[in-house]
Amino acid sequence: MNITIAGAGYVGLVTSACLAEIGHIVICFDKDTEKIEDLNRGWCPIFEPGLQEMISRNMGEERLFFTDQANLAYEDADCILITVGTPQRADGSADTTNIDQAALDIAENIQKDVAVAIKSTVPIGTNERIEAVILDNAMPGLTVEVISNPEFLREGSGIYDTFHGDRIVIGSSHERAARIVEEIYQPLAIPVLHTDPRSAEMIKYASNTFLAAKISFINEIANLCDLSGANIEDVSTGMGMDKRIGNQFLNAGIGYGGSCFPKDTQALEQMARQNDYDFKILRAVREVNDRQKQTLYRKAKNLAGNLSGKRTAVLGLSFKPNTDDIREAPSLDLIRDLLDEGADVVVYDPVAMEKVQRLFGDKISYASSIDEAIERAELAFIVTEWKEIKEFSLSKYRESMKTPLLFDGRNCYSVKETEKHGIQYVSVGRPGVP
Ligand code: NAD
Repeated sequence: MNITIAGAGYVGLVTSACLAEIGHIVICFDKDTEKIEDLNRGWCPIFEPGLQEMISRNMGEERLFFTDQANLAYEDADCILITVGTPQRADGSADTTNIDQAALDIAENIQKDVAVAIKSTVPIGTNERIEAVILDNAMPGLTVEVISNPEFLREGSGIYDTFHGDRIVIGSSHERAARIVEEIYQPLAIPVLHTDPRSAEMIKYASNTFLAAKISFINEIANLCDLSGANIEDVSTGMGMDKRIGNQFLNAGIGYGGSCFPKDTQALEQMARQNDYDFKILRAVREVNDRQKQTLYRKAKNLAGNLSGKRTAVLGLSFKPNTDDIREAPSLDLIRDLLDEGADVVVYDPVAMEKVQRLFGDKISYASSIDEAIERAELAFIVTEWKEIKEFSLSKYRESMKTPLLFDGRNCYSVKETEKHGIQYVSVGRPGVP
């Protein structure tokens, strides 16, 4: 079977590499010529653990190909998986322009019957609409069946998640296309849920917004812990022992970011509005997260007063560890707030520095290590819990900083340990300095 993947982003590249790895022949198409040139030169444009090696191996074994030519990508395809971006419009809704463009490219270039699976996160009803777009524009007589196959991988563990996903969702009113897509994933031995396209599209939004709600909920509890003297870590542990609640996504911190939760909560809220439905919880989830992103900054202002001219280290820039993705990362809000206050900001991240540099240029300084970032700093913020940040020796904060004042947005250290090291330590929802 010839498989074509449309879109060489986080989802498209991981899916392409993993499907090639299990023996399929895969062509990955992206309209971004520079990206395709990089890939064909053997350079992976994103950081995702294990991806560079997997791409190189499968290119070497001639199972994985990259192209920016739509005709080469689509003319021979038996199955096309669409993984193009669906960013957020100004009103919060999902922008499906890329999906529509992919549909037209597919229609113009296919030469035989094809199954098309939309993996991108799209508003309810998009699969049906896109099938009509392709059929209206394709050569008459061809059978084109579009099905929904939402993606659930997490950046930072995309390869693991593709091989060990909890479920594969196939939303289809076409038996043949559903069978083709199920056959592609069959070697992964992951449970498959069959449903209709609209329910599949909703499963994706409902899952992401539920997870976002879990994060905002635990952050609200953490804020109340701060005010009432309870300890969020014990509270989360106690809650998570209840199987009905589960112990994942109960880590309090400075809010969620990334390319999915913020945009998907807003898109679902917008879909609800279009249906004259007031989705109250969702609005609160978003508002809580916006406020939570400011929580450390507010604590710093309370404790350190005027931050103007103060050397301030920001440790961890990507929206989560093990990725270079900085879309909607809490670090960006923090840096903006610190700059507005006139702080002298120095940042460090193991892989996301280049992307941050493109945004902030010479308004901030870039350190090549944690040691360099905290040297002579008067304040330090932990924003992303990279392993090297989590495991960084507390004594070094004491030795290197001008004043050891540490704001930890990911609760990396034990409060007792920081006290032992003589560090003034502020975290989220745990007893200590309020
Ligand atoms: P991305 O921005 O990293 O990549 C999208 C790619 O699509 C880009 O390389 C872009 O050039 C390409 N593209 C745009 N229009 C195209 C077209 N017409 N033809 C070919 N290529 C085109 O996006 P992503 O993070 O991989 O997300 C893709 C989709 O998957 C989104 O809908 C997202 O919500 C969803 N999703 C993302 C994740 C994640 O963790 N990133 C997880 C699950 C689902």
